[in-house]
Amino acid sequence: MNTITKHYIDGAFVESHGREVMEIINPTNRKVIAQVTLGDEDDARRAIAAAKRAFATYGRSMMEERAKILRRLHEVVSARIDDLTAAMVEEYGGPAGFSRVIVEAGANVFLAAEKALQELPLTRSWGKTTVTLEPVGVAGLITPWNANSFFLSVKLASALAAGCTAVIKPSELSALQTQAWLECVHEAKLPEGLCNVVTGRGELVGAELVRNPDVAKISFTGSVAVGKSIMRDGAATMKRVTLELGGKSPNILLDDADLKKAIPTALVIAFLNSGQACVAGTRLLVPKSRLDEIMRAIVDAIPDFPVGDPSDPKTAIGPMVTRKQYERVQSYIRKGIEEGADVLVGGEGHPKGLEAGHFVKPTVFVNVKNDMTIAREEIFGPVLSVIAYEDEEDAIRIANDTDFGLHAYVSGTDVKRARRVASKLLAGRVAINGMLDDQQAPFGGFKHSGVGREFGTFGIEAFLEPRAILEAA
Ligand code: NAD
Repeated sequence: MNTITKHYIDGAFVESHGREVMEIINPTNRKVIAQVTLGDEDDARRAIAAAKRAFATYGRSMMEERAKILRRLHEVVSARIDDLTAAMVEEYGGPAGFSRVIVEAGANVFLAAEKALQELPLTRSWGKTTVTLEPVGVAGLITPWNANSFFLSVKLASALAAGCTAVIKPSELSALQTQAWLECVHEAKLPEGLCNVVTGRGELVGAELVRNPDVAKISFTGSVAVGKSIMRDGAATMKRVTLELGGKSPNILLDDADLKKAIPTALVIAFLNSGQACVAGTRLLVPKSRLDEIMRAIVDAIPDFPVGDPSDPKTAIGPMVTRKQYERVQSYIRKGIEEGADVLVGGEGHPKGLEAGHFVKPTVFVNVKNDMTIAREEIFGPVLSVIAYEDEEDAIRIANDTDFGLHAYVSGTDVKRARRVASKLLAGRVAINGMLDDQQAPFGGFKHSGVGREFGTFGIEAFLEPRAILEAA
């Protein structure tokens, strides 16, 4: 069995001061696959001190030095794509196909950040005024479990591009993936203290980052509840915060949508990462006039989304990450039924033959009203709510009637019309006719989906502070 007892501080793997030992359980078969020793506040403080020392020089680094580091990180992470993918499959039950795509995206963000850095003017001047964009200081990076190496890479890339040093607090559910990723970072031979990583509980290690006066900025991805507490607790030390939180993203099928393409795509978007994705399109808004046809198309397409062993490349939906997450999804399915929605496919319980792991049935509800719990709260599992609308205005109204605003999707053959609808949606990203990504485009949410943006120049700017120097004539 794998045993992890060390954190990564000041360029070296060091023994944990924290003594709590946690078991890592493979969600596919519930077997214990690793033991990890969790860090505590003391470990966090050691890491912050290392990052602070490193910032004294790295904070003054030139663009070319930062670009070189980003290129090096791209190389070392790219060389371990297979290992990082295997760790995601084993530790999270991430479906192999999706896991590979997201791990590769994580390797590529280093190059994307380098490109953005080259395009970002760090100095601007006019007349007797000069403005420089200065790194904000030590950055505390706190990440969730659902796409570990991707989030570690995205946040580290932007922080280092800006000239910040980092202390990362990954989710405690991802020790194996973090270990593989850290071996890459170590291989990159960065200057000591640039990237420090302490795995531990949020309320200990994460909370220390949030309250420590030597941390200038928190970039957090995770739940709305924890995001709010970070904003509140960070105020005491005037933390700059970027919060990437949850979603309940609408996917509007316009009445001219080609169902042969739009329905399979809608299911991909809904069941992404077994439904454990912040960007999942979990409210499918469909024209009332085509409801019967759409329900038939969904039933026909479901066999193309098999549930099962995540290491099998044909599997579309793997297990839920933990027992707790399995129970959470079950409770929402029960709630949907209690509140009067109809189960079109799926329902409660395990799929037949998959009782040994945290597997759930991909579930599609119809006759959902937008005020039902399953249409309002983030479930984080493969559960899709189909909501019928009267006309375009009604679709836009329902799409925007949510506390969230992370992502939205529109499908239709008249692209001009799809663009018009997209421009009325209150979401940080709107994808037309597909599940799309652009690592230079800003990523983040309106409303309760968060504060600030990641990716590209937008993501780097979040770690910078402008300073204007004004001279007398
Ligand atoms: P979570 O909020 O429970 O935990 C996220 C991280 O915060 C973990 O590392 C956790 O240990 C830490 N944490 C917990 N309490 C803390 C505290 N008091 N102070 C500081 N840190 C603390 O979220 P999760 O269950 O790991 O992830 C799922 C959530 O993440 C979902 O809501 C999902 O929508 C969201 N998410 C958002 C995005 C995005 O980019 N917007 C991407 C992926 C996931």
